[in-house]
Amino acid sequence: MYCPACFSQDIRVIDSRPFVELNQIKRRRGCQGCGHRFSTTESIETGFPKIIKRSGSIVEFDPGKVRKGIVRAVEKRPLSVSQIDQMMARIMHRISKMNVKSLNSNRVGYMIIEELKEVDLIAMVRFATVYHCFKDIEAFKDFIDQLVGDPVLNENNDE
Ligand SMILES: [Zn+2]
Repeated sequence: MYCPACFSQDIRVIDSRPFVELNQIKRRRGCQGCGHRFSTTESIETGFPKIIKRSGSIVEFDPGKVRKGIVRAVEKRPLSVSQIDQMMARIMHRISKMNVKSLNSNRVGYMIIEELKEVDLIAMVRFATVYHCFKDIEAFKDFIDQLVGDPVLNENNDE
């Protein structure tokens, strides 16, 4: 690291402040060469892509939000915490394996839908509705039609 004023590499940390919720540490630094003071922000490299929201704004990937979305969808449904944990683990694994710098929030939403589809259709529909995962009712209908054509799901319907 160089001093932005004199390009000396003799930099001292004066003070560190963690921002837990942002996964960041802000450090106040001073140049030993010229006395210039400046701040740096360190973020923990999560290996996860930035998330591009529908509004176009870019945010850090937040596993807590993904989990909250799932928990909200499965509320009062017969799902265990360990099922939610497994869904989370698979989603996190898929996202990190994609190895991309950014990802549309819709893609994440769709991954959650695919997970919920395997375990609880009511929760899946609830999630899709709450998070407006489909651009219109036709797109949602197409998705449901596809599901109905799924032999695994038809088996479940017979129960
Ligand atoms: Zn300096």
